Amino acid sequence: MATRIVILGAGTGGTLTANRLRRLHPHGDVEITVVDQDDRHVYQPGLLFVPFGMAHLDDIVRPRRRQLHDGITFVESAIDHVDITANTVYLANGALLVYDVLVVASGARLVPEETEGLTGPGWMDKVFTFYSPEGAAALADALTAFDGGQMVVNVVDMPIKCPVAPLEFCFLADWYFTERGIRDQVQITYATPLDGAFTKPIASDALGGMLAERNIEVIPEFNTGEVDGAGGRLIGYDEREVPFDLAVVIPLHGGAEYVGRSPGLGDAVDFVPTDEHTLQSNVAPNVFVIGDAATVPASKAGSVTHFEGETLVANIEHFLAGEPLEPGFDGHANCFIETGFHKALLIDFNYDTEPQPGHYPGRVGLPLLKDSRLNHIGKLLFQTLYWHSLLPGRDLPGVSSTMPTAGKQLAPATKEA
Ligand SMILES: Cc1cc2nc3c(=O)[nH]c(=O)nc-3n(C[C@H](O)[C@H](O)[C@H](O)COP(=O)(O)OP(=O)(O)OC[C@H]3O[C@@H](n4cnc5c(N)ncnc54)[C@H](O)[C@@H]3O)c2cc1C
Repeated sequence: MATRIVILGAGTGGTLTANRLRRLHPHGDVEITVVDQDDRHVYQPGLLFVPFGMAHLDDIVRPRRRQLHDGITFVESAIDHVDITANTVYLANGALLVYDVLVVASGARLVPEETEGLTGPGWMDKVFTFYSPEGAAALADALTAFDGGQMVVNVVDMPIKCPVAPLEFCFLADWYFTERGIRDQVQITYATPLDGAFTKPIASDALGGMLAERNIEVIPEFNTGEVDGAGGRLIGYDEREVPFDLAVVIPLHGGAEYVGRSPGLGDAVDFVPTDEHTLQSNVAPNVFVIGDAATVPASKAGSVTHFEGETLVANIEHFLAGEPLEPGFDGHANCFIETGFHKALLIDFNYDTEPQPGHYPGRVGLPLLKDSRLNHIGKLLFQTLYWHSLLPGRDLPGVSSTMPTAGKQLAPATKEA
């Protein structure tokens, strides 16, 4: 009988895992089934560009089925729950899937309703998020109509997907309002629960300096307790208030809801406890986790998901062969950070090394921690690589899944995303 591998989620991680596994098993000795609740694969980094009219939703959404290689079964249904003691996934459409190996790739979910007032009066009127396709499209209209006043960009709490995306939004807003000739009529404020612009000190200093140069005020250690959309106020747990005419909020994130309905699978916020080096879950030996769904102390980012793919697939193969797993994943993350005016900055880091100046991937390459037009072109080109190399599960030329050290002066990292 064929080995049954069931993959929950056909986003970045689920798709690239299915395609990599299929390439290793072209003759049907392994049945690969991927489940997702819809057939719309969103290139999420593109959501950043939608509010500024630099991309349209049609440009960044493709059918999920078309991203999966022949021989992979795609099931379009919500997942109801998983019984990890019976190796069975129960689908909302009434079907069930029995597995030998389960891959959880169901990402992170936005939970705006968990913050008092956030989805109350003013939501999608003067309080928006660009973290969902509907939110990004609605914000595009609101920005076009915005003629001046106080704009606040707020992260409610960590962890969030792509921790640099809110900063990119601030930089692009500075550029956008400058282009429209109204920058002097807009105050841009970034209210963050972190003690600076980013989680890692060297990058935080560099990015904080760039925000200051652009007259973007940072309010650190701001823990949003309530959003008063009608009155135009963010209210912190410490009772500090930040007034706004337009708020761009990155809501709380949790894991997929079905994880909470699956006894023993998730933690208190529905992420799945996972070994940070092997990507085997800590809840059952035949359950593996990739991407934002995992508790590993790496950023929740597509780049991390991509770099995890190699170790994950190798370890599924080891597991099936009864061999020891490889502790292969080093926490490698890299992110292009749009800084406005057709420039971007690149950071590259892992569990042990924080973002450093230098070049990527070697001594000659893209500049690190320094904005340049070359990095902006890299960011724009990345969408093509995403659809044609990353999702098909191909290795990117010159890009290794472990963090390259040539081209960097190494300093130890603080161990958090
Ligand atoms: C605005 C924004 C900008 C970003 N920019 C970048 C960037 O520049 N660089 C970068 O590296 N990363 C970026 N990211 C993050 C990146 O998109 C994610 O980290 C990546 O997609 C994670 O992949 P994943 O497979 O874990 O989750 P996803 O790609 O989100 O896939 C999860 C899938 O699970 C499915 N699912 C969930 N629950 C269920 C259920 N109950 N039933 C059925 N299916 C279910 C979902 O429908 C979804 O398709 C950005 C994200 C956002 C929101």
